Amino acid sequence: PDFVMSGALLRAVYFASQKHRDQRRKDPAASPYINHPVEVAYILWFEGGVRDEAVLVGAVLHDTVEDTDTSLEEVARVFGETVCGYVDEVSDDTSLSRKERKAAQLEHAAHISQGARLIKLGDKISNVRDIVRAAPKGWSDARCAEYFNWCKAVVDRMRGTNAHLEAAFDTVYQEHIGDF
Ligand code: NDP
Ligand code: ZN
Repeated sequence: PDFVMSGALLRAVYFASQKHRDQRRKDPAASPYINHPVEVAYILWFEGGVRDEAVLVGAVLHDTVEDTDTSLEEVARVFGETVCGYVDEVSDDTSLSRKERKAAQLEHAAHISQGARLIKLGDKISNVRDIVRAAPKGWSDARCAEYFNWCKAVVDRMRGTNAHLEAAFDTVYQEHIGDF
């Protein structure tokens, strides 16, 4: 019974798959983008023990507003205000420069809701694991290391959110920061 998928979660997977349909990840194989938000929700369920449906739906949708034509209004209309709030909290302000966005994310991590922190933890775990699987195209070792350290700084701002997820991040970080 723990494995029964809710209609809302299936709707989110379908919605995200349509929204990200033409996008690819930055790995050399240019994997389908949807693999990542699905993995984030999977990590929350199987490694974090997260069972809150709005958080899991938010995880599946977490990059739709930042990276596709999806608006927060559309997310609110289809998935409700709670999910919309999570997606809003984990979306960078794309009008800012890359440097400003990184600084803003670090600053916000300490102040966002518990649900948004769970999504952010899953996102960072998925992204560092992706880099371990294969460095993004064109990234030097130094850039990979810088990204790892920035993720760690964000995670450090969210300590006390979920011990399993924090430990999962720390494991990848400790085992692989020396690779770069
Ligand atoms: P980016 O923000 O450009 O790229 C990282 C983001 O790409 C992730 O957060 C993830 O976001 C997404 N992504 C897509 N595919 C992958 C994948 N296969 N693996 C991991 N992430 C993926 O990186 P940064 O700006 O953070 O750059 C990293 C560091 O490098 C920074 O410290 C920066 O200052 C430095 N830098 C160096 C440059 C150089 O040429 N040396 C140039 C620019 C920056 P999502 O979850 O939203 O998909
Ligand atoms: Zn993401």
